[in-house]
Amino acid sequence: MAESAGTPVKTQLAVIGGGPGGYHAAFYAADLGLQVVLIDPAENPGGVCLYRGCIPSKALLHVAKVVSEAAESADIGVSFAAPEIDIDKVRSWKNEVIAKLTGALGMQADRKNVTRIRGTAKFTGPHTLQVISVDGAESSLEFEQAILATGSRPVMLPGLKPSARIMTSTGALDLDDVPASLLVVGGGYIGLELGSAYAALGSEVSVVEMTGGLLPGCDRDLVSVLKRRLDKKFKAIMLNTKVAAVAEEKDGVTVTFEDKKGSRNETFAKILVAVGRRPVTDGLGLKTAGIAIDDKGFVKVDAQRRTSVPRIFAVGDIASEPMLAHKAYGEADVAAENAAGGKAVYDPRAIPAVVFTDPEIAWCGLTETEARAQGRKVRTSKLPWRGNGRTLTLGRDDGLTKLITDPETGLLLGVALVGPGAGELIAEGVLALEMAATGKDLRHTIHPHPTLSETLYEAARMLPRE
Ligand code: NAD
Repeated sequence: MAESAGTPVKTQLAVIGGGPGGYHAAFYAADLGLQVVLIDPAENPGGVCLYRGCIPSKALLHVAKVVSEAAESADIGVSFAAPEIDIDKVRSWKNEVIAKLTGALGMQADRKNVTRIRGTAKFTGPHTLQVISVDGAESSLEFEQAILATGSRPVMLPGLKPSARIMTSTGALDLDDVPASLLVVGGGYIGLELGSAYAALGSEVSVVEMTGGLLPGCDRDLVSVLKRRLDKKFKAIMLNTKVAAVAEEKDGVTVTFEDKKGSRNETFAKILVAVGRRPVTDGLGLKTAGIAIDDKGFVKVDAQRRTSVPRIFAVGDIASEPMLAHKAYGEADVAAENAAGGKAVYDPRAIPAVVFTDPEIAWCGLTETEARAQGRKVRTSKLPWRGNGRTLTLGRDDGLTKLITDPETGLLLGVALVGPGAGELIAEGVLALEMAATGKDLRHTIHPHPTLSETLYEAARMLPRE
């Protein structure tokens, strides 16, 4: 890798963190002609998304899909024997996927002459970083500009530490084994995705969520379609329930639950804590550099993604919510362009959210709940998928497409879907929102038949003709 040429002492742009925000910014800045140093402890770029997040979880969810489709295909006249899961092989396939993707990013960095340093960096002043390499060597790097992209890490329950039985998403994705029973604490993105994967691999999965519903922040009509299926896959979904105590024992983890009926104990082979993530801002010397943090712990940035020190940018999970890789890409483009002398502004109309469960849930723009909470006039058009030809030919009848529009202008305010493949379909909604499309625009767009995308067209046809 490029580091072998010797650790540089000066650079035009230092990028700290090699996840989607960091590598995307580094590559684009190099394309724009800047001399770039990318600092990250891993062998290759990739960050949480590729090593311990999006990619390994999607690989495991693919295994889950194969298992559940094989089981359900008996209903359409094709029966398979019960699957035999070779967990070592599943794990090595998942690791191969990671290695291919991260290796390709490493090669891309080298082709673009991005100098990589394996290590961690800390500001020692407004223009200098102390870099500690993975082999312990210390050096100093002077930079003209910097982009901070150190991401986020899982939040733990107070008083708990990760162990062989108490996992965060990182441990769960290592896939050491398939525990006989697994408690997932937190019914959000990670809990439901990884809970689904472990259920398909053979664990008896229970979910405990402290609020009154799964996936807070997502419209309830979408969640209820997912919940109907999860109720069959999971042993229990405990809502409005708190985890009052966790005791790790030799043979399992005993958890005390509290709800309005009282408290009770249950023992699980393992638990997965998925109660959110927080930005990684510690140990970076942000104060020394004069970089301000907001009251939620995110680095404060302006529309150009400049921090309170204008030559230092921040992108991705460290800079704001939503903590999503594709939002980091968007910010990275803006920061890199501005570092190269541009005047780009980060101002998306729609950032898609996708929960890769089965069925998938995806939405963009305003949710119906948000639109109504803003006191707007809202018209929705909801199309259940059971009448869609393609859905039935897939052996499914669950799914819903919803358009959220402004009744006065016809403008789309939000698009939401639940159903198999919703994560792919939402891209049309994102483009429609970015292009300020109306329901009429969708209705006059010819969609391919027979596809699930027709549900967007059909939902638009249900809106009153303007
Ligand atoms: P989340 O915010 O999606 O969900 C956390 C859940 O835990 C919430 O429902 C919350 O009410 C619940 N909770 C919090 N404290 C609890 C407690 N003590 N007991 C029981 N429940 C509790 O967080 P996550 O699932 O950890 O994911 C973190 C972030 O990672 C997400 O916000 C998302 O941005 C990102 N992510 C995205 C994807 C994707 O895009 N598909 C997948 C995984 C993660």
